Amino acid sequence: MITVKDAQKNIIKNTALAKIIEVDLSSALGSHLAVDLYSPHPIPFFNQSAVDGYAFNFNQSLSSYTVVEKIPAGDTRRITIKEGEAARIFTGSKVPDGCDTVIMQEFTDVNEKQLYLKDNGLKKGSNVRTKGYQLEKGALALKKGTRITPATIGFLATLGFTTIKIHAFPSAHILVTGSELVKPGKSLKEGQIFESNSAMLEAGFNQLKIHPTVVSIKDNLEATTMAIREALEQSDVLVLSGGISVGDYDFVYEALMKNGVEAIFYKVNQKPGKPLFFGTKEHKVVFALPGNPAAALNCFYEYVYPCIRYKMGNESPFLPVMHLPVSETILKKEGRAHFYKAITDFKTVTPLGGQNSDALQSFVWANCLLFIKEGLNEINTGDLVEVHLLP
Ligand code: AMP
Ligand code: MG
Repeated sequence: MITVKDAQKNIIKNTALAKIIEVDLSSALGSHLAVDLYSPHPIPFFNQSAVDGYAFNFNQSLSSYTVVEKIPAGDTRRITIKEGEAARIFTGSKVPDGCDTVIMQEFTDVNEKQLYLKDNGLKKGSNVRTKGYQLEKGALALKKGTRITPATIGFLATLGFTTIKIHAFPSAHILVTGSELVKPGKSLKEGQIFESNSAMLEAGFNQLKIHPTVVSIKDNLEATTMAIREALEQSDVLVLSGGISVGDYDFVYEALMKNGVEAIFYKVNQKPGKPLFFGTKEHKVVFALPGNPAAALNCFYEYVYPCIRYKMGNESPFLPVMHLPVSETILKKEGRAHFYKAITDFKTVTPLGGQNSDALQSFVWANCLLFIKEGLNEINTGDLVEVHLLP
């Protein structure tokens, strides 16, 4: 059985980056830059006033200037101001030739066309955002791998970009197995339960801005084999739920083999989620998650989520990690690695009650997973533990 960290390493090693596509800025949110981007312009584009006031050429011996121009923001004229003269200017206006300093209007008196300075602290260059001070033309603006956030989109628009190159959002299928499962909204017969994993996993994909196709099947080898074949024809990522354990009605492993999926690992030395399967077929990745809902979600965040993030060009695809003191003693019986649903205030971490792999309620309260690696059996209050922050 493979360890948690080896399983995670193997996923990255066997995951191909999604193809590079060029998209409109407006549809790139949540993706990652696939190339380094160089600035096509200096930013700012020209010497720009940072305030409403008056521009002139700074001269220590002068305390009064003659106002000869008025330059609103967006004025495209090329204006030159002579020594001893000033221009009325506004935030965002181009500072005219011959001027190197702007005084805020609050620190001036103006009488007719004569400007009198009151600001003693004024220096040469005050209140001027000089051309290219943020970014010279041709300078590296953003590195490959940068996450596309609202700030990234704003910054790229500042540079004049309308499209960018990203790694495509992968297409995905969720295949839910289980003859006992009924979609919420329908009525349950004795022995049936509501099917919750597809809604949960779909929401997990949605956090990555991916909208998977969901298919439900009964516990039947033929149906499972067919559904896997169709999913592999259509999607880059296939996530199955349930049917991967060793029961008489668990057909997922066999159906994956029948479809020529190469097993990279099957079974991880962990709780919850021991029967986790990961495989590939060409550039496609396949996960079979255990059916127990908390185990399925745990495996989604620890394995599927990083795989997809890596595929999309995220260079830190795993959940962010902190090392924090645990607020109570943890006794675990087995040598397996454990994930505990937990709460952190980013100073300490506390495992929650309800750690069973079928219990989802505590996952709702959790903001992190507390990870205890294989072989470590007693953790005392105050010991540092690995905390994986949930998105
Ligand atoms: P399995 O991994 O198929 O053996 O399922 C393990 C447990 O999880 C069983 O109690 C199932 O009824 C339950 N389970 C499996 N799939 C789902 C699902 N999609 N929604 C809710 N519970 C599920
Ligand atoms: Mg099942």
